[in-house]
Amino acid sequence: MRCAGGCGLSDFALDAHLNGGEQGIYLVSDLNTQPVVLVIDDSVDVHRLIAARLKSEGVQIVSASDGPQGLALARAQRPAVVLLDLDMPGMDGYAVLRGLKNDQCTVNVPVIVLSGMSDSSDKVQAFELGATDYVTKPFDFAELRARVKAALRLDHLLRLLADRAEIDGLTGLNNRASFNKRWAAEVNEHRRYGHPVSLAMLDIDHFKKVNDTFGHPAGDAVLQEFAGIIQANVRSTDVPCRFGGEEFAIIMPHTAAGDAATVCERIRASLQSHVFRRHPEHRLTVSIGVTGSQGAVVDLPPEGWIEQADQALYRAKNSGRNRVVAAPFPNAPGGTAPGPAVAAA
Ligand SMILES: [Mg+2]
Repeated sequence: MRCAGGCGLSDFALDAHLNGGEQGIYLVSDLNTQPVVLVIDDSVDVHRLIAARLKSEGVQIVSASDGPQGLALARAQRPAVVLLDLDMPGMDGYAVLRGLKNDQCTVNVPVIVLSGMSDSSDKVQAFELGATDYVTKPFDFAELRARVKAALRLDHLLRLLADRAEIDGLTGLNNRASFNKRWAAEVNEHRRYGHPVSLAMLDIDHFKKVNDTFGHPAGDAVLQEFAGIIQANVRSTDVPCRFGGEEFAIIMPHTAAGDAATVCERIRASLQSHVFRRHPEHRLTVSIGVTGSQGAVVDLPPEGWIEQADQALYRAKNSGRNRVVAAPFPNAPGGTAPGPAVAAA
């Protein structure tokens, strides 16, 4: 798959995909997608030259001929690298750079400034505004390739870091920070568009005993295996998270409470019958509280849903553990009082 001759840029797209350690730079679903290089320049010749030199090299070139178009394309495409001309009529490159760095969507995209100006004050200003690199026109293509390649590596590392910041190191599930962000976004979407949504809180029963009896490494192994059970039983659109300690949460977009309870019941039954690798004599169970909308929009902030799911979890614990208790919000418009508890198991 890789270019055998060490021919520089021609293998950099694959490099970018394959050299990222255990987690690739791009999501698995993007593996067949070439990284996008966005060129923003008012000169047709520059576009032609760059496209001719880079197009066959494993990147997808997207072209913008002015600043506003460049900013719009950067937002829409989230390119791996931007090549930005400073000298453009109307909105100049500095203004575009400011726009890119002021937008959460594009703030981390590496920008290589292309300019005929070789005055060091221009370079300093570009770097101060957040440029990653600077190439003076007329550019040497070998140098430009090398700089694009370096910028793609930087983009790779930034994406890797962003991924890691969202992942719980022990279980590989989304961490608490990621949960908070995703859940707030789901609740906003629910309040705006009325799609059903559900939330489950899961807590392994008597987990402390595992740590106390077998030690923390055994406890960690249990958490990892349970995370695997959750992942094996949720749907692809569900977002399983480690909430903290032995507590987990599952965000279930576009799912009413009843369906959410069915998914949770699968997880409960699966853990009950699970044989642990290191401690086959051990059996563990989980208590699960579920809440969710049932058609009507629930006008509650994210914490309100978490409280409701926590109360259902508390009821599951208090009524004997190893069960799913669902406390959906009622159908009545505007109603936010808890519905009847539905126990399974
Ligand atoms: Mg120009």
